Amino acid sequence: MNRQKPSEKHLVLIGGGHSHAIALRQFALHPLAGVRIILISEQINTPYSGMLPGHIAGHYTAADCHIDLQLLTQAVPAQFYVDRAIALDLEEQRVICANHPPVPFDGVSIDIGSTPQLPQGTGILDYGVPVKPWQQFLQEWQQVIDQVTQHPDQPLSLGIVGGGAGGVELALTIQHRLHQILQGAHQPLNHLTMHLFHRGTQVMTGHNATIRDRFHQILMARGIHLHLQETVVQIDGDQMVCESGLRVGCDRSFWVTGAAAPSWLKESGLSTDEQGFIQVGSTLQSLSHPQVLAAGDIAAMVVSPRPKAGVFAVRQGKPLAANLRRLLQGKSLQAYQPQSRFLSLISTGDRKALLSWGSLAFDHESAGLWRWKDAIDRQFMAQFRRLPARLPRHLAMGK
Ligand SMILES: Cc1cc2nc3c(=O)[nH]c(=O)nc-3n(C[C@H](O)[C@H](O)[C@H](O)COP(=O)(O)OP(=O)(O)OC[C@H]3O[C@@H](n4cnc5c(N)ncnc54)[C@H](O)[C@@H]3O)c2cc1C
Repeated sequence: MNRQKPSEKHLVLIGGGHSHAIALRQFALHPLAGVRIILISEQINTPYSGMLPGHIAGHYTAADCHIDLQLLTQAVPAQFYVDRAIALDLEEQRVICANHPPVPFDGVSIDIGSTPQLPQGTGILDYGVPVKPWQQFLQEWQQVIDQVTQHPDQPLSLGIVGGGAGGVELALTIQHRLHQILQGAHQPLNHLTMHLFHRGTQVMTGHNATIRDRFHQILMARGIHLHLQETVVQIDGDQMVCESGLRVGCDRSFWVTGAAAPSWLKESGLSTDEQGFIQVGSTLQSLSHPQVLAAGDIAAMVVSPRPKAGVFAVRQGKPLAANLRRLLQGKSLQAYQPQSRFLSLISTGDRKALLSWGSLAFDHESAGLWRWKDAIDRQFMAQFRRLPARLPRHLAMGK
């Protein structure tokens, strides 16, 4: 471990989400003198949400859509503890980790994302697969690919629970990939049956009516069985059981339901909203503890609430880095005003996309829009490979 200088301050970043990846890049480009930076993240490679549906569809490799946090921490340089934060000791200013001794901090920033909230119903926690944490989901997804590749003649029924943008995109990309495998094996496409369950009256909640209607049509045209106003409350063997009494046979189910926060944030004494997300003001500082900042899905911006989306987590990265710098330098922090409308290029699984921007939409499946999205996403990822000279590994990695 590096020998600590007496006057050195400690900045601890918990979670390797989008905002922290951007913030670390800022610290690599503009070093933070007199501050020791420590990243605590469970994963060495963190996924970029914009490209994950394309990874499921088979358009991108894992390397294409994951940010290498080890490279980033070496470029800062920062110490990197591959570990899970499990509590905060706010009085003693320490982060409690699953596998490392407590990590002291002068300032701490939290960007740990959110996970789908699975209901407590019988069988759901045992058999339902939440789409996050991504690494676990990707392992399950690989099993499905292997199963269809090895036994393409056997029927398979998959359920997606949650009809927001994530659930719809996932359903379309999963179907695209598995159809490609079936086609390659000269098997009929009807060996795959897909069901999408959504408790609302329309899919794509949060998008304008044109986009909602268009995605409804696309799902129907692709033969995905849409179960609207249905809430799955139980998994009974291979049956998805809904509150209405509807039972649907599914071999596996993937859950993309409303976001939830871990309980340790509230239990540590941070001010949280009803769902347990950290309440932050316009400077991204916790309302209860000014030495704690938060960004991405885990932060609930009380002044300007925004949906949980990677686009906001990315945009918060630079103001977060600037305010962490000011916090550690003893300066006053600056307010951040998130954009109110954001451009969404939503893929339909087959290298085509639709555009949604506030109340505006381009609702024809367009290969040109997909290429535009592809270019934006690749450019985003490229910035994490163009970094200043790196430190030797042993100096950057935590022990
Ligand atoms: C199928 C799907 C598709 C999506 N597509 C899009 C899209 O196209 N565009 C878009 O804007 N949004 C999209 N989203 C939403 C997007 O994924 C999230 O809003 C985004 O990932 C949030 O980023 P974040 O920085 O908050 O956290 P995350 O990206 O979730 O990163 C959090 C990181 O923290 C780590 N971590 C978690 N807990 C701990 C802990 N206790 N200790 C240490 N490390 C921890 C995790 O391993 C992870 O690496 C999609 C979501 C889904 C489910």
